[in-house]
Amino acid sequence: MSENTNLSMDRETCVSRDAADPLNGFLHKFDLPEGVIYLDGNSLGAKPRAINHRMQTLLNEEWGKDLIKSWNTHDWYNAPRRIGDKIGQLVGAASGQIVAADSTSINLFKALSAALAMRPDRKVIVSEKGNFPTDLYVAQGLMAQLGGGYELRLVDHDAVYDAITDDVAVAMITQVDYRSGSKHDMAALTAHAHDVGALMLWDLAHSAGAFPVELDAAGADFAVGCGYKYINGGPGAPAFIYVASRHQQAFSQPLSGWMGHAVPFAFGTDYQPAEGISRYLCGTPSILAMTSLEVSLDLILSADMEALLAKSRALTGLFIDLVEARCQAFGFELITPRDPAKRGSQVSFAHPEGYAIMQALIAHGVIGDFRAPDVVRFGFAPLYIGFTDVYDAVEILHDIMAKRLWDKEEFKTRNAVT
Ligand SMILES: *Cc1c(COP(=O)(O)O)cnc(C)c1O
Repeated sequence: MSENTNLSMDRETCVSRDAADPLNGFLHKFDLPEGVIYLDGNSLGAKPRAINHRMQTLLNEEWGKDLIKSWNTHDWYNAPRRIGDKIGQLVGAASGQIVAADSTSINLFKALSAALAMRPDRKVIVSEKGNFPTDLYVAQGLMAQLGGGYELRLVDHDAVYDAITDDVAVAMITQVDYRSGSKHDMAALTAHAHDVGALMLWDLAHSAGAFPVELDAAGADFAVGCGYKYINGGPGAPAFIYVASRHQQAFSQPLSGWMGHAVPFAFGTDYQPAEGISRYLCGTPSILAMTSLEVSLDLILSADMEALLAKSRALTGLFIDLVEARCQAFGFELITPRDPAKRGSQVSFAHPEGYAIMQALIAHGVIGDFRAPDVVRFGFAPLYIGFTDVYDAVEILHDIMAKRLWDKEEFKTRNAVT
């Protein structure tokens, strides 16, 4: 049993817990189809209802009527900075250190480039073997472009601390592992990296919007994160990049597009980076995507962050306890830490028939996802998932296992996106 729930686990108790939940009111602020329990907000967040109306205004009034004037009159121009500051409130960053821009992958390239340039005598990047592949691919691409001589030191989750030694330029670490849900201690790892002279680049893809993060307090150097997971900004929403104020003038990133220029509308011949975080911009932002992201941020920012954290821990703890109580006989192996302080807002189990089981769950209205080779993954977005949802999802899982409903050809054929 996980440490955080010894409450009784019947459905009525779950219904009462929902009724007493300070975040309960948020459930109705999202569009979710009837009969679906959506446990995949860690992959694509659900849609805030308010987005429809805001998009209508954007399309009909701002773009439709005011056209190009809107860059000034509706302040489209400052959207990356304004939205960046709102993301800052979620991740513990004072204003002027985050811009919303581009994708997480592209922001990783910018941040890694900066970090390596700031440690010219060091040639090692530390990361995790199991890190999300794009992080590793971006590091590999940058190393190739820098002409070799760099080492990407990949280690297991528990070996990260010791792998950050005094030859390391930067540790590029994802706070919450996308597969297992294991969470690193941001403050401790950052302090250790600084002790040996290394820089710390955090990937917050599975953190931002799910629980409070304290970038400034931890002394982080760089961070990136995702707009379409727990931030619910919409499919392909802009990502974000954080550069601590003290580093912003140290380097100008290599994607030197005009939006990162000191005076873009001077149309000068030579690149001159903007002061501050704006130099981490590249080209023109998608205002459609920025707008939807901002609606969602405003919604999340109206929630109490400590309540978000408490509920994330309670939901994941309840799910672990229920699966272990109800589905013990069916061979699920928990790969997420039992200690709530050591996990993000997801729970994963390994199971040899994981793919077919997840397909069967989806067919029965419980949407999670599958990650190769054998992991079924469930994300618990605290704003729109309730305790009763957790209870019902486990009952459906139990049914699928007990009746072997997964054991069908249609559930074993792999789709392109899992
Ligand atoms: C989801 C995720 C990404 C996504 O990168 P994109 O450029 O938005 O496709 C990057 N890193 C991690 C750790 C992720 O979980």
